[in-house]
Parts: sequence; structure tokens; C-alpha cells
Amino acid sequence: MNESPVIEKEESALYEKRSQRAIENFARGGINAQYAATRDEALLQVMAMIPAGVTVGTADSMTLHQVGVISAIEARGQNALINPFARDAQGNRLFQGEEREDLKRKVLTCDVYVIGTNAVTLDGKLVNTDAGGNRVAAMIFGPKKVIVVAGANKLVKDADAAFRRIRELAAPQNALRIGIKHHSSEHLELPCTKTGLCADCHHPKRICRYTTIIEGVSSEHRGRINVVLVGERLGI
Ligand code: SF4
Repeated sequence: MNESPVIEKEESALYEKRSQRAIENFARGGINAQYAATRDEALLQVMAMIPAGVTVGTADSMTLHQVGVISAIEARGQNALINPFARDAQGNRLFQGEEREDLKRKVLTCDVYVIGTNAVTLDGKLVNTDAGGNRVAAMIFGPKKVIVVAGANKLVKDADAAFRRIRELAAPQNALRIGIKHHSSEHLELPCTKTGLCADCHHPKRICRYTTIIEGVSSEHRGRINVVLVGERLGI
């Protein structure tokens, strides 16, 4: 008998084991982390962490859309949502220029910041690279609570592996996403979108400028960062 080509069960089992390891290590740094076997479970966990009446900020995240977080917040109608990267059905940005910059600044003082991440390490770190710095800034300081949602496909061994993941996979694919889905011809001129490989470029539209490693939180901010690791392949 041929073996089934579907490997979802094996992948889920691996994801859960790796997530548990990261969750233990996040706790050592004062970061709350929890596991959700599916995106539906993750959505329930995230929504339970967002009280009615608080302002919620966010940024560009495929994972949040895949899990349904943004649409659930909008449908629930209990929170003011600040999303500088909101787009119409065709993928065009709703906010441009100074209006978008103002919204990015407002996000820094929201109550709850909900966001994805580029990489999660098994030793309990969040590693991210931004083009503009708005996302990494809000993760570090500003919003009173941060909720990070990540598919377990983003788990890597350590910070070095995270940097490789970002430059070899996440950044080139994100640049292609912005170029193709969001109609930015300039992003399609980046070396990584042309060749599939990072050239450590100096292009004006370079998307890798600000890199942070979150290794834990200070004692005043214990519990501020909350990570939901999902046992599915999500995001970029
Ligand atoms: S080529 Fe430039 S934009 Fe692309 S991954 Fe490398 S540094 Fe980032």
C-alpha cells in the first residue's frame, strides 16, 4: 500500500512540539505565549485578549488576515481600529503620505497592538525587520498590550537562523507581494524580486532597514507581550 502523500498530521505534531519549547523559553523572558492548534482556535484566543472599548492598532500582516483577526475586530464593532495599511478590495492603500504617517504615529499610543512577526526562535525571541520601523517600534514600546500571532512555520532555532529566514525568504516574498498584489512597480525593481535572492541592496525601496530582536520584557512590562503560536503554516 502506498503511503498517504498528505503530511498535515506529522507537520502539526512537529509544530506543537516546537511551539511548546518556544513557549517555555518565552516565559523565561516574561513574555506570555500560548499554543493554538488551528487558526480558528487562535482567533478565539486573540479576540479574548482584546477588551471591548480599547483602541486597537495594527500594521501590514498576512497572518492576521488569514486568521481573520482584522475582520473579526471590525465585525464585533467594539473597538476603534487604527490600520495605516488598510486596503480596498483591489489591494490599493486607503491612506497615503502624511495621513498614513499620522496613523502610524497614532498606533504607537493605542491600547492593544495586534501584529504578526517575521520569525520566532525556539529559545524565545521575536525577530523582525521593517522597511519603515513603525511595526518594530510599536512592538518594543508604546501600546500597553502587544499580541503577536505567528504560524509555527516561522519557528527557527535562534536569532542567526531568524536573520537567514528574513533575508532568504520573508523579505523577498514580502517585496514580491507588495509589487504584485499591491501594484508597486518599484518593489519589482528590487534585486530580490528580480532574482529571488537578497543582494543586501541599497535600493530606495529596500524593505530591510530596521531589525529588532525582542528577548524579553522589563519587569514593569511583564505580560505586555503575548504570543499566539498557531499549529498551521501561516504568513510569509
Ligand atoms: S535585496 Fe534588498 S530589499 Fe531584498 S531582501 Fe535584500 S536587502 Fe532586502
